[in-house]
Parts: sequence; structure tokens; C-alpha cells
Amino acid sequence: MDDSRRLIKDCDVLVVGGVIRDIGPGIKAPDDALEIDARGGIIMPGMIDTHRHMWQTAMRAYGADWTLSQYFVWYYLEHGRNFRPQDVYAGNLLSAIEAVDAGVTTSVDWSHGLQTIDHADAAVDALETIPGRFVLAFGNIQRAPWEWTADKELRDFYVRRFDGKGDMLGFQIAFDVVAGPEFPERAAFEVARDMGVSVTSHAGVLGANGDESVRLMHEAGFMTPDTVLVHCATLSDDSYQRIAACGCSGSVSTESEQSAGQGYPSSWKLREFDIPISLSHDTSVWWSADLFTAMRTTLGADRSRQHSEAHARGEQVTQLDLRSEEVIDWATRGGSKALGLDSKIGSIEVGKRADIVLIKNDDSPVMFPIVNPYGHVAMQAQRADVHTVLVDGNILKHEHRLINIDLEKARSVTEETVAYLADTLGEVAWNAGMHPDLPEKEQISNPYHYNK
Ligand SMILES: [Zn+2]
Repeated sequence: MDDSRRLIKDCDVLVVGGVIRDIGPGIKAPDDALEIDARGGIIMPGMIDTHRHMWQTAMRAYGADWTLSQYFVWYYLEHGRNFRPQDVYAGNLLSAIEAVDAGVTTSVDWSHGLQTIDHADAAVDALETIPGRFVLAFGNIQRAPWEWTADKELRDFYVRRFDGKGDMLGFQIAFDVVAGPEFPERAAFEVARDMGVSVTSHAGVLGANGDESVRLMHEAGFMTPDTVLVHCATLSDDSYQRIAACGCSGSVSTESEQSAGQGYPSSWKLREFDIPISLSHDTSVWWSADLFTAMRTTLGADRSRQHSEAHARGEQVTQLDLRSEEVIDWATRGGSKALGLDSKIGSIEVGKRADIVLIKNDDSPVMFPIVNPYGHVAMQAQRADVHTVLVDGNILKHEHRLINIDLEKARSVTEETVAYLADTLGEVAWNAGMHPDLPEKEQISNPYHYNK
């Protein structure tokens, strides 16, 4: 995934001290090197997710049948405030492990459940337990962003937990612009600017934040190339032009947009306006947390749109717009560029940090033949095919097994959180939350009958 997207066959990669030192066929490894046999596999850069609400992983699949409004009611209005620091820890720990296991070597933890600094410390404690690369995007849906960003303790927390952590642990401020024309979020942007940190915001979410939010951010000068806007669906052309002009990137969460209802997954629109794209999975309360699925659903949604538009004109598509290698670029370089880390990660190039994934599974009938590596990664590979994962040169997964990662600890803290939340909500609310009512639907009467 270098700029020319070179594919190299029968190639070795030499990693020394966390850095990619050499790439090419027949490299002579130093005598004390650990050699990993990658034959029959594909070596690719570690994947980068620019938006995942990791604290929600403790409620995995609970909201599988939710719409966006049901999610808002459950987390924002009714039950999000029940999460204690240890519950944020549990979700983050499980999510961090899950990311690494699936070859996602960098994750932005869009952590909008940080009601107190104790919650924030718990979030970082979990991230620091797992030696992946993380960015904490600090947020708090229980208070207005202009309030919690004004607290001096936010800056103290930032200095205490992030200073000197380098590129293994980054920091952003996460909030949405939803208020009216008086734009009170201005104060939160000013805090971020003052601290020298980036802002990430959901934008282009039907019914929550749209063109007006983009206009306010743009006219106040708060949209910059390090601003990551999540979803970017249902916006006007004028908004896309504002986003493009500022060099902001869009984080596309196709699985999320497809079932929650923010708007049609926006890759087709962002491409039209030449807005940089990264991929994200959003939250495990609904969706899978591997970027193979993100790549595949994004390809599918983008192509589905192209076909539908052509069909509406009475035409057929003869050439697809979006190619496999493009979504792999979004899952790797798209993320590294969005996070300002492209000189360090995102591709396998000499001099970059060694965040590397080996996709290989000798027991799988799906791992051969490999004739088209881009097509193979985007359309065939799965998280179970992630054989080896290196982050900053450290081996976190090898031969399909996590190395020195305590999954049992994650299991026990998650079980404790689930038991606590189920008990706090009570059986009726717990079950009702998981099983929303079905809307009424009329069955179309059929004039034809089949007689046996
Ligand atoms: Zn989100």
C-alpha cells in the first residue's frame, strides 16, 4: 500500500527494533532473527479504524435490531449513565483485544461515555493493557461539550496520561455539533485548538446533525485536515464542498449507516467530491469489529448505489467505479492520513513502524488460490485468517493465537459488567431494550394462486 500500490511476490520483510528495515525477495535475516513463514499468505499493513465506541463492546450485539433513535434513547437518555468506570474498562479491554485479533492495529476509541475523569482513566488503563496503537477520542454524551471541555481536569488528564506517549497513544476530542445558530460548541473547538489536539465529530447524520452543523464549523474555521467527520451521509453538495475545501476526511461506517439509518453509506458521495476516506466499524453493540467486513460492505453499498442509479435510468452498469484496492487503501492509508500518522504507519515501506498483518490460513479452503491479492483481501479473507499481527514490531498474535494477552481477564470483567447492567435495568427493561417492537406491515395480496 505504498503510493504506487506495488504488489511484490515471494517477498521478505525485515523488521528491526520496531521499524521496517528491508523489503524484497531473499533477504538474509540476522542470525538472531525470529523468522515467520508467510508462504501461502498475504502480508498487508495493519488496518486502521478511525471511529469505534469501544466502551460499548461489553454490550456486544445487544442492539443488533436497533435503529439510530433506539440507540440514542438507550445510551444517551436512559442507560448510558449507568456505566461505571469499570464498565468502560471492560468494554475497552475486550474491544482492544478484538481489534488486534482482527488485524486492526490502530483504533480510534470514540469514547463518548466518559462522564468523569475516573471513567477516562479506566478507558486509558484498558487501552494501555493491550500493546496495540490507540487514539482516545474523549467525549461525554451526558453533558454538553462546551461544559465538559471547560473543566480544567480535562487538560490535567491529558497532560497526565498522554504527554510523552508518542504515537502509540494519541488523543482527540469527540463531540457533535447539534445545537442551533448560536453555536455553543464553538467553545469546545477553542479548547481543542488551545490544547493542540484534533476534533472528531459525527456529521451528516439524518435528524441529528446535517448541513447547518457543517456550515457552522466551516465558517468558524474549525474544519482542518486533521478533523475526522464520521458518516458524512445526507449532506448537500455545498457541505461536501466545504468539507473538501478544508481537507477534512470522512470516516465511513457502512455496516452502521446501512442498518441504523444515518443516510446511505457515503463513499460514493465522498469520492465524487474527492474527500479523503477512512473506514470504521462504529460499535459492537450492533456490528462486527473487523475491517474485512467494513471493506466488503462498503464495496457492496457503493456498487449497489451505482447499479440502482443506472437501473433507474433504464441502463446497466458495464464498468464498476469502485475497486477492491481502493477500499483496502481506505482501511490502511486512509486511516493513517486521517490521523496524521502517515509518515509512520499505513503501508509496508522501509522506515515505517512495523504494524503488519499476515493473512494466512493453511487449514482454510478459502486461502488458495491467491491470484488477485486485493480481491482476496477485500472479498475472501476473514478475521479467522489473520495469522500474525505485529504492532510497532511486537508480535501480538501468531499462528492464530494471541500472544501475552489475557482474554480470560476480559471475559471476567465483561461478565461482571453485563451482570451489573442487567441487574440495574431489571429483567423487563433489559429484554425490552434488546427486542424493539416490530412496525406494522401490510402483506400485499397476491392475485395468483398455486394449486397443488
Ligand atoms: Zn459513532
